[in-house]
Amino acid sequence: MADRDGAQPRVSALARKLGARIAASGPLPVDAYMAACLADEEFGYYRRTNAIGAAGDFTTAPEIAQVFGELIGLWLADQWQAQGSPQRFNLIELGPGRGVLMQDALRAAGQALPAFVAAARLHLVDISVPMRDEQRRRLGAYAPAWHAELADVPNDAPLFAIANEFFDALPVRQHVRRGAAWHERRVGLHEGRLGFVEGDAVEVDFERPQTPEGAVVETCPAGEAIAQALGARVAEHGGAALAIDYGTAVSGWGDTLQALRKHKPIDVFDQPGECDLTAHVDFPALMAAARKGGAASRGIVGQGAFLTRLGLPVRLGRLLKSAAPRQARDLAQASQRLLDPREMGTLFKVVCIVPAGASPPPGFAAELEI
Ligand code: SAH
Repeated sequence: MADRDGAQPRVSALARKLGARIAASGPLPVDAYMAACLADEEFGYYRRTNAIGAAGDFTTAPEIAQVFGELIGLWLADQWQAQGSPQRFNLIELGPGRGVLMQDALRAAGQALPAFVAAARLHLVDISVPMRDEQRRRLGAYAPAWHAELADVPNDAPLFAIANEFFDALPVRQHVRRGAAWHERRVGLHEGRLGFVEGDAVEVDFERPQTPEGAVVETCPAGEAIAQALGARVAEHGGAALAIDYGTAVSGWGDTLQALRKHKPIDVFDQPGECDLTAHVDFPALMAAARKGGAASRGIVGQGAFLTRLGLPVRLGRLLKSAAPRQARDLAQASQRLLDPREMGTLFKVVCIVPAGASPPPGFAAELEI
């Protein structure tokens, strides 16, 4: 189809590759499409792009304000101490992006509790080559080991882990309700262009009786598998994991796939492989998976409430005292973005995974509170 000005829209290399694949072997499940967009060996978005920051496609909390990573570092160090300060443990970040969060976390934790940093073995789980270069630049001094997936990280010690805006990048499946049946939503071709098509009825392992006819239910088997593995590791060796993302506090229905390019939403089929593609995280499903692994899971707490309880306003107040006026204004604005319910304060949510029977970690008072 031609644009309004008559120009043909650019077809990405991945769109061509997927078009050929679909023409040869039929429509792809949505999770296969999303996995290809983000992680295709040749053309996947995270394989090639430096996505984050003003010059990229989106920004994240640690990039907005350093207090974010600092408070997470202190949370992890506190949990390490609460569990008897194990001499050796695996400090894991899932999807570390440019390494900013972990750099801030290790600096703050190192000042408060140097023994925590001394006992840590740093493991970074990421598929992105350009991001790994950035991570090496910021975290090389901590001698990290890199892995493509959590399963490759040694399971030989307690783990203390953080995942910020990681689970939203994991592929989702979509099913459409048709009477008592669920049809898998797939990605096919409409006159040569990628678009949704409805597949056959399939067996599903969820129950959503409230879903209206024709509505879409999303699940994230890859995310649930990782949450379950984290739960199993925490149950076996001890430790704590924190997951922060945007998403829902109730497992409902609706298509939440969204593409971002240069900080603006675009159609999920417009530029596959050249834009970020994410879906809302289903927090109750992640927590259930972690419990299935044998650990306890707490939350769901809004990011604003969580950071406030960890003392962000106090820390900010201290920083503001010594800041120049312009710097003070920037600091206050950045904190506001993280805390304000109209910005990231409630859309972003926090859950943790801790050993069964552990007392609630800082920031988590009751079970569900946004
Ligand atoms: N946590 C960072 C970056 C978030 S962007 C921050 O808050 O700034 C998502 C990160 O997850 C990127 O580093 C990306 O390369 C990584 N990622 C995406 N999909 C992944 C996958 N399937 N396995 C491992 N890492 C992945």
